[in-house]
Amino acid sequence: LSLSLQAKMSKPVQARRLEGIDKNIWVEFVKLAATYSTVNLGQGFPDFPPPDFLKEALERALSGKNHALHQYTRAFGHPPLVKILAQFFGKLLGRDLDPMTNVMVTVGAYQALFCCFQAFVDEGDEVIIIEPFFDCYEPMVKMAGGTPVFVPLRPRTPKDGKLMSSADWQLDPDELASKFNERTKAIVLNSPNNPLGKVFSRGELELIADLCAKHDVLCISDEVYEWLVYDGKEHIRIASLQGMWDRTVTIGSAGKTFSATGWKVGWTVGPDRLLRHLRTVHQNSVYHCATVAQDAVAQGFQRELELYGKPASYFIQLPKDLQRKRDCLIQSLDAVGMKPIVPEGTYFLVADISKFKSDVPDVPDSDEPYDSRFAKWMVKNKGLAAIPLSAFYSEAHKNNYTHFIRFCFAKEEATLKAANDILQKWKREKTRP
Ligand code: PMP
Repeated sequence: LSLSLQAKMSKPVQARRLEGIDKNIWVEFVKLAATYSTVNLGQGFPDFPPPDFLKEALERALSGKNHALHQYTRAFGHPPLVKILAQFFGKLLGRDLDPMTNVMVTVGAYQALFCCFQAFVDEGDEVIIIEPFFDCYEPMVKMAGGTPVFVPLRPRTPKDGKLMSSADWQLDPDELASKFNERTKAIVLNSPNNPLGKVFSRGELELIADLCAKHDVLCISDEVYEWLVYDGKEHIRIASLQGMWDRTVTIGSAGKTFSATGWKVGWTVGPDRLLRHLRTVHQNSVYHCATVAQDAVAQGFQRELELYGKPASYFIQLPKDLQRKRDCLIQSLDAVGMKPIVPEGTYFLVADISKFKSDVPDVPDSDEPYDSRFAKWMVKNKGLAAIPLSAFYSEAHKNNYTHFIRFCFAKEEATLKAANDILQKWKREKTRP
């Protein structure tokens, strides 16, 4: 009996689509930060509260007379939320949007991405991903049976000793063009980009748009940091470019938009010919997102529509606050010689750790990229958590970028000050004979 039981247990339990994607850096680094860090600038979430108007909207949704808000709502998005999203994004994109067919609400931007890959990518399809990239794109493409094709942003050294900017990281137009072929189904665009903070220029977006049109390729545009742009830079939506509406799904997140990552409310905006397939995936997987959270986000957008472009708008206030925080972290890092790459957008900042290599010697034959070992050493020995940049590269290219780490600066002033204290103390220890 025991033999036959054992024989039954020998069947592989893991589906083939999970092969090679079971490692996840977030599990490891989130745990390390929880265990050792006194200052956590690792994972991307604010340690300050969402705005009062949003919390109050949630309280109203929870305790108001409308008990229906505690029950299921429309599967593809709570009607008040899809209506206001259609109005808001219709205004931004300069087109009339139908709330029922041009907008779909998801469980965070994460699920929006998952729906896109499941809906569009077949076995054998290629999906172009621009490196460095938000790491879940790669496993999501693979789970759908597709093949990720990577193209890197290439850094140029800035002139006259200036700090590098995320704008110094650019696509090589010929290299990008060489990745498109008849198997290419989609390209993933993430502007503003996590982890670099790069905000793609109109010229760069036009280059991508032209290639999409030429090769009949879809664009999955992850714009979760759309409001977080600095120094007067403009976020351009690729769906607003000539010919791109029909082939683009634009993805957003209330988590980033309203500093409430735990709510997990996200959305997709696009033409019905694309969104109808996202609805198929959505209705056969999660089906539905929390109603009260959707209701509160709808109220948040209602407020923002009324205040659009005005100084009191959260979409103006938040980037203003974050730019100050960015500059504060830039100063701390620059002062100790951990050269920051000035981000044009997002709440992330990548810094060069080359000058700190003597503190954490390399292990020549290790499989683990240097920046990953450095980040682990830093959290354990200095109590400061950050994420290695190599985590945002494909396996084949990881080892080309091993002297950078990513910090998140969506943090209270006290947190940034504590990070500064750690860095200053570290520098003093280094310079002591
Ligand atoms: N896209 C990017 C580029 C992100 O950085 C994140 C969150 N870190 C997401 C999508 C996921 O967003 P959400 O929390 O809304 O699922």
